[in-house]
Amino acid sequence: MKYEGMIFRPPSEADSLILQVSVGCSYNRCTFCGAYRGKIFRIKSFEEIKEDIDEASSYRSRIQRVFLADGDALTLPQKELLRILDYLKVKLNRLERVGIYANSKDILGKDVEELRELKRLGVGIIYLGLESGNREVLKRIRKNATVDQLIRAGRRVKESEILLSVTVILGLGGTRSSQAHAEDTGKVLSEMDPDFVGALSLMVVPGTPIEREIEMGKLILPTPFGLIQELETMIGHCHFTRCFFASNHASNYLPLRIRMPEEKEEALRRIRQVLLRKDPALLRPEFLRGL
Ligand code: SF4
Repeated sequence: MKYEGMIFRPPSEADSLILQVSVGCSYNRCTFCGAYRGKIFRIKSFEEIKEDIDEASSYRSRIQRVFLADGDALTLPQKELLRILDYLKVKLNRLERVGIYANSKDILGKDVEELRELKRLGVGIIYLGLESGNREVLKRIRKNATVDQLIRAGRRVKESEILLSVTVILGLGGTRSSQAHAEDTGKVLSEMDPDFVGALSLMVVPGTPIEREIEMGKLILPTPFGLIQELETMIGHCHFTRCFFASNHASNYLPLRIRMPEEKEEALRRIRQVLLRKDPALLRPEFLRGL
């Protein structure tokens, strides 16, 4: 497989074949994100992608899941995506699900029927970065999307019946917007009603604009218990039909896996106990945290 640069994928795609169909992120300007900073965005040619699929099919015939990288592979023109999905189906006869990262503009650039077309050819899950449901925070991190666009994008995925997994980031509002960020994010998540939510904690990547904001004192990060307070507020404002909410990413101080709505109250009780005791021994140690 001819990967260019570092490859990122969601934790739930750990066993998937990673197929790099584009390089980098077509936007690449969120202030906290260092994932694709060194990469100049391009869409790979079908010949390059075909070579990788041929190679994978020749030695890994049992592949059941494929994840299309890099940052927002849904930005590919519909025709290109269909061609890739078609070829995957031909070459990988055990293929069950294709996953893909997307931003709100990629999703809103396709209508529901186009998303359904992708679903028919194997796309089973779309990973969307919400990061925050707070308007000010979205502006400050230069997310390039409004709350309304993000909600519409999430709902459109749901309408197409592709699974929707949404990422949010604790700490992104700093101490000043901490509670507003947590509350609004919970509310926006509820409006999207996703199938999965992954909560991360902000890890400052060297060289990113957000690092400079912190150095200049413009953004003050919440303490570890401040982040857990955000988690409590966010979950308290989440009302889902059926969702798996996880804060077990390596960046978090308090890893939880919650089936909502049935396990929500129990999870809140547990978080409140941790907040009451404020015992650092209850948290994931700093040296075990990572991106
Ligand atoms: S967070 Fe997503 S959209 Fe923003 S720069 Fe990173 S990959 Fe691109």
